Amino acid sequence: MAIYEALQATKNRITAACVSAGRPADAVQLLTVSKTFPAAAVREAHAAGARAFGENYVQEGLAKIGELIDLRPQLEWHLIGPLQSNKTRPVAEQFDWVHTVDRLKVAQRLSEQRPADLPPLNICLQINISGEASKSGLLPAEVPALAAQVAALPRLRLRGLMAIPEPGPGALAQHQAMGALFAQLQASGLPLDTLSLGMSADLEAAIAAGSTMVRVGSAIFGARA
Ligand SMILES: *Cc1c(COP(=O)(O)O)cnc(C)c1O
Repeated sequence: MAIYEALQATKNRITAACVSAGRPADAVQLLTVSKTFPAAAVREAHAAGARAFGENYVQEGLAKIGELIDLRPQLEWHLIGPLQSNKTRPVAEQFDWVHTVDRLKVAQRLSEQRPADLPPLNICLQINISGEASKSGLLPAEVPALAAQVAALPRLRLRGLMAIPEPGPGALAQHQAMGALFAQLQASGLPLDTLSLGMSADLEAAIAAGSTMVRVGSAIFGARA
């Protein structure tokens, strides 16, 4: 399927999921995940109307940002993969969002390194919602303390939470737990507007649970090598 048709089909899935969940059709943003696909594919998706792109690997993302510098003012670049504290500087300088903050040290470095002439860097805290020891992310009980610390950093804007629920029979409960955690943090007074939840295979469950941003790669660009 061409990128244009796949993008329209994904938008239709999002709209249908919003309707089923009784939510406004524009309640959920699409983040187009371009990891492993070349800059030319991002260019084609941009021509088809996509504006926000997600990358997992810092080096690959930086290379694509450079190749597409002519489109830079129109694009939003989101880092959705792990970030080590020794790689924060180019991310603070070149990305618009980071979805995977789970340690204060990384957040502090991103804030210190965010250039003064750019708007604050948008941040989501990554949650380990399956609770498996091997997974990155904060446990839910750790979230309120780090959220308060990150929200206080001057060059960051805490937008919300991100998670990657484990596929399988427990996925629905994990989506719902993320929706509940997000609502609880909002109720505590933090001005959060983003629940980054849902991918190609599970965006309907995520939207039913309250996702405001789905991260979709293979349904738009095809299977990754
Ligand atoms: C790869 C990736 C996605 C997109 O996954 P698809 O199944 O291709 O839609 C979303 N979020 C993260 C964190 C990813 O690594």
